[in-house]
Amino acid sequence: MSTTDTIIYLDHNATTPMKPLVLDAMLPYLEGASGNPSSIHSIGIQARRGVEEARASLASALSCAPEEIHFTSGGTEADNWAIKGLSAVKGAGRIVTSAIEHHAVLHSCQYLKDMGREVIYVPVDAHGTLDLEVLEANLDETTSLLSIMHANNETGSLQPVEEAGRMARERGIPFHVDAVQTFGKLPVHPSQLNADAVSISAHKINGPKGVGALYVGAGTTIEALMHGGEHEGGLRAGTENVASIVGFGRAAQLCQAELDRASERWRHLRDRLEAGLSAALDDVVINGHGGRRLTNTSSIAFTGVESEAVVMGLDLAGIAVSSGSACASGLADPSHVLLAMGLEPRLAASSVRFSIGWSNDQEEIDRVVEVVPEVVTRLRALSVFEN
Ligand code: PLP
Repeated sequence: MSTTDTIIYLDHNATTPMKPLVLDAMLPYLEGASGNPSSIHSIGIQARRGVEEARASLASALSCAPEEIHFTSGGTEADNWAIKGLSAVKGAGRIVTSAIEHHAVLHSCQYLKDMGREVIYVPVDAHGTLDLEVLEANLDETTSLLSIMHANNETGSLQPVEEAGRMARERGIPFHVDAVQTFGKLPVHPSQLNADAVSISAHKINGPKGVGALYVGAGTTIEALMHGGEHEGGLRAGTENVASIVGFGRAAQLCQAELDRASERWRHLRDRLEAGLSAALDDVVINGHGGRRLTNTSSIAFTGVESEAVVMGLDLAGIAVSSGSACASGLADPSHVLLAMGLEPRLAASSVRFSIGWSNDQEEIDRVVEVVPEVVTRLRALSVFEN
């Protein structure tokens, strides 16, 4: 099934199509006899080799040691593990995070809060950037965990993780970074971020769905989330998802090779999209504009319409985008990220996310700049909102 051949796909922060070279790398591990990497016969050894080569590719991308990479079932598991596993080590001190984290982090923190832990949600400014003063005021030697995302999935706003990590390190607080949206788009080096744990996910970088990893720095103590066999250094039990892990490694190699070039290409396309839509329509607000953002992400509020209606209208025209975060789409509530940035609920509910990727080109962006104003103008004429 290849629907992306016929549609303009601008929802790469939700997921990305797999690159053909990634599929090629995976196929030998899906076809025929595919061994268990823990088996000591030759087919098992082949599978082990695939897993370890992928681990080495990820370690090279993150500039860390292969033993520091632990495969998981995706970014959500990596986030859950980091929050629950790190915060369990240092007593019952408070957990500090931001108001704009992905639900994988927020709901893990909520789970711990329901168990009696104190959780602090540090606010962001109008650009969606973490307030470092409030952060610092909430950290002390008893804090058991700091978790801050590298870039936000809805707006692309980049967070001052290096500074946050420095504050954590000075106080001996374990520091987790959710880098699911930056890995493959920007250099992500845990040592530069002062991070003890970093979550990444394959399906955001043109790899397969259902596989991710948690970097855990040597010397960092973390409790296991999954119990069973001695897989992944005894920290994450379960027979490895060999083919997907191999695909993850290949996807990481491919995006590392074109990191700078891709980022500049996306910046050009995003700026063309934002300039084109701002020129063609009145009352367009680019959320987080003016702050440091990922070059591929544009969150745009079209005043007077509901984002779900825009998404459906564009879908009918062959353009795939999302309202808020993909994980939150289908929910009527306006995005917690946009509300945390101080947007009026009505403006937040009018916001659509365009996220550019590997296969997009200028012709597609020009088509989107043509179609979006038609859809929004039609919806504004019908809108129940007051314009
Ligand atoms: N963290 C962030 C910032 C994300 O954007 C996502 C996915 O949208 C996740 C975590 C969850 O990753 P996965 O889909 O691999 O579970």
